Amino acid sequence: RSAHVGQEVTLYGWIQYQRQGLFLVLRDFQGLTQIIIPQDEAHSHVKKLLSNAPVESVVRVTGTVSLRPPGQENPKMPTGDIEVKVETAEILNSCKKLPFEIKDFIKKTEALRMQYRYLDLRSFQLQYNLRLRSQIVMRMREYLCNLHGFVDVETPTLFKRTPGGAKEFLVPSREAGKFYSLPQSPQQFKQLLMVGGLDRYFQVARCYRDEGSRPDRQPEFTQIDIEMSFVDQAGIQRLIEGLLQYSWPEERGSITTPFPSMTYEEALADYGTDKPDTRFGMKIVDISDFLRRSDIQFVQNALSYPRGTVKAICIPQGVVMLRQECITTDAVCDTTFMEHSFPGWYSSNFPDSKIAPSHSPPSLLQCSALGSLRLESADLLEAAGLVLRNPTVFHFLWVVDFPLFLPKEENPTELESAHHPFTAPHPSDTSLLYSDPTKVRSQHYDLVLNGNEVGGGSIRIHSAEQQRFVLEKVLKEDSEVLSHLLEALEFGAPPHGGIALGLDRLISLIVDAPSIRDVIAFPKSFKGRDLMGNAPDYVTPEELEPYHIQVSWPLAEKEVQGLPSRNSPLGW
Ligand code: ASP
Repeated sequence: RSAHVGQEVTLYGWIQYQRQGLFLVLRDFQGLTQIIIPQDEAHSHVKKLLSNAPVESVVRVTGTVSLRPPGQENPKMPTGDIEVKVETAEILNSCKKLPFEIKDFIKKTEALRMQYRYLDLRSFQLQYNLRLRSQIVMRMREYLCNLHGFVDVETPTLFKRTPGGAKEFLVPSREAGKFYSLPQSPQQFKQLLMVGGLDRYFQVARCYRDEGSRPDRQPEFTQIDIEMSFVDQAGIQRLIEGLLQYSWPEERGSITTPFPSMTYEEALADYGTDKPDTRFGMKIVDISDFLRRSDIQFVQNALSYPRGTVKAICIPQGVVMLRQECITTDAVCDTTFMEHSFPGWYSSNFPDSKIAPSHSPPSLLQCSALGSLRLESADLLEAAGLVLRNPTVFHFLWVVDFPLFLPKEENPTELESAHHPFTAPHPSDTSLLYSDPTKVRSQHYDLVLNGNEVGGGSIRIHSAEQQRFVLEKVLKEDSEVLSHLLEALEFGAPPHGGIALGLDRLISLIVDAPSIRDVIAFPKSFKGRDLMGNAPDYVTPEELEPYHIQVSWPLAEKEVQGLPSRNSPLGW
């Protein structure tokens, strides 16, 4: 800065830019400094060195801080008043030709950026995202450990399979036929820590789910994982509100607590989803009474069913173009309308639906169709220039009173846990658990931010008997796999509950990144590959031998066996 004028300084950094052997801009992650290359004979060696160094080379320069000539100041740079006149310089590592320019606005394909992730990490945006992430996590640690007495405990990542839930990665062991599983979350361990008397646990926990390729999921991701003894739902909610408020970055404004709360039923009825984006209106409204007086045949058909209703969303800001159709103000939308107005949309969104839109009573399905239409309409309105969802506004929302069980997607006659099998029933519905489990609400809560699920947790079952009933009688799972947990619940397990925040997603929303990959230093591709190190990789039959494993090659790959090639970026 100008306060340093006259001082001799030594700077280390990367060459961001170099111009005609006259000056260069040196970068480190504090910022940029302009360096003046000496032109006199006595410094010809320094001049040659710096003029020939390619951009992104790492250099040391030593020189004197001077004021820039009048009129040449750059008010946009914190160092814009000064420059450093070089005396001596050294190239510490010359940079070969770059596969892409390290500027945020010249983004090459993401596959190439992932292959050279260490170069992409030099960009301003990734630097900012990762540094902010680190600061937020540090504040979270402070809040939990220093202000609230939490204990940071690491739990194993080599464990065994858990019934239900996400698909887990397997890790072979040296015992023939036996495998570890990488945990989808530390759920069992954190509950066992409660039995162990560590009554306030937290962990920045790595979780693994082998769920294939989804644009905004990663096979390994991070949770802020929390569990507490002697707590109720409100206790966890207030803790999380305080945690987010404490760790919220100043530059993103402030957030107000307590967060509003909505029941699962309300969320589905008003927004058609269990993670409503409450930044804008366009709620689903029931217009059955209004339309009962109409003579529209398909509407009358729908209303003639016992619980038949007609629902609509109102798109207030005028006309939106949608597949060359106009939805005008106060558009009425039910499944029939959708089928008529958006040919193919209904069937592509609900390909398996057996419900013929105009002949069935409106249903949950209809609400979620309207929920998707609401979001699609918002996208279209925004594309047309209307701002509905200000990216600097953060709407947190608790969604509560979920059902404890939902029909399995693949076989609706069987039930699965809406959250996970350790979730306790709502206290007023406990007796229903034994008579009609489909009617039981749970003590499960989700945290939603701007229409994204950023956290979820529950008060847990702490009675072995109830836990066994849920596993065996309701979920029809083999409870033997969980015998250690069931046994632990019989040794004086305290009532307990917890939550996990999806850190990657939370940070990506805070920095307004298009993908969670932008807040992870070394993310995987859609197909779960590391495009830089080329993982997963082949191993030799000899390396597999101790694990008693043989690869049975699919026919197509057998032909190229022995010639494993680098992943084609096309297939990433
Ligand atoms: N383990 C749960 C999850 O990963 C969170 C919780 O119930 O605390 O979703």
